[in-house]
Amino acid sequence: MALPEPREDLGLREGYHSPQVDVAVRLNTNESPLPPPPAWLDALRAEIGGIAFHRYPDRHATALREALAGLHGVRPSQIFCANGSNEVLQSLCLAYGGPGRSVAVFEPTYALHSHIAHLTGTAVAEGRRRPDFSLDLDVVSDVLSGAHPAITFVCSPNNPTGMAEDASAVRSVLAAAPGLVVVDEAYGQFADWSALSLVGDGVPLVVTRTFSKTWSMAAARLGYLVGPDPVVAALERVALPYHLDAVKQIAGRLAVEFVGEMDERVGLIVRERRRILAALGSLPVTAWPSQANFVLFRPELRKGREVWQALVDRSVLVRDASSWPGLSGCLRVTVGSPADNDAFLSALAEVLS
Ligand SMILES: *Cc1c(COP(=O)(O)O)cnc(C)c1O
Repeated sequence: MALPEPREDLGLREGYHSPQVDVAVRLNTNESPLPPPPAWLDALRAEIGGIAFHRYPDRHATALREALAGLHGVRPSQIFCANGSNEVLQSLCLAYGGPGRSVAVFEPTYALHSHIAHLTGTAVAEGRRRPDFSLDLDVVSDVLSGAHPAITFVCSPNNPTGMAEDASAVRSVLAAAPGLVVVDEAYGQFADWSALSLVGDGVPLVVTRTFSKTWSMAAARLGYLVGPDPVVAALERVALPYHLDAVKQIAGRLAVEFVGEMDERVGLIVRERRRILAALGSLPVTAWPSQANFVLFRPELRKGREVWQALVDRSVLVRDASSWPGLSGCLRVTVGSPADNDAFLSALAEVLS
């Protein structure tokens, strides 16, 4: 007897994993350095006692979607929630992708867009960004007219490069796209402008958001999108029954009550990001401007991989992007607490001296 082989097309695809090395300063996965407010945890604890654990949760996540709709000034029927925004992206590929269909991505960008597309049997059409990592609208329109993708992914701010798109860029992509445009705003609150302002009935645009970054709730695994009702209805058809557990629904609904505290954390991170970028300016590195909670940089005198290891040796973990396509030699550092950032900057200065 032998175990059966999984799908052949999974063979070549490795998962997307950042090594979880045991270090004092973890700046590799773009989480928030600060936990959610204690009052949120108290409220969550109090409500967990009231859950009917022998019953399935609210399949429509009514209260959570009402809270998110209130936050964005839209109807609950325009909100789709899932287990992290990665599951939102997977639901989009299940509903709009699949065999015979394609998605478009513009590299270098978030690896999960093409990874999830492949897992759902969807072809991936790839365009490249300009050398400064901005979106080249001529390349966009060539890729879209050549591939006719069912989904066009725009990551803004773009992970791992940090740059955000503006209204005119997103409008141009919308005008050129034959299918759905997905703007992944996992870092949206750190940026100056959001594509949420372009979402509307009959507009083939959805904006995805997550609780993992700005809301300090990566452990909760909660994400959502805002888009037209018929898109939300299509996504509900591919979601598994009761896919959002009761605790998660409460956690997300209560988080929205603490939006002011979230904005304060975002303000702190944006100030720290400016401080990191200014400090990198006096080191032998190239650093790219960022509207997110991370900074991409390339050491100029030593190999990226060596610098990554030397930082780990000093108990500072950043993301090694040096072998990713188009990012030769680059590292990505998450903006952490002021103390984390000090530790990173002094370790880097020592490594590069
Ligand atoms: C972190 C991140 C996500 C979030 O994934 P979750 O599943 O919500 O944790 C989505 N998109 C991008 C670009 C990210 O960097």
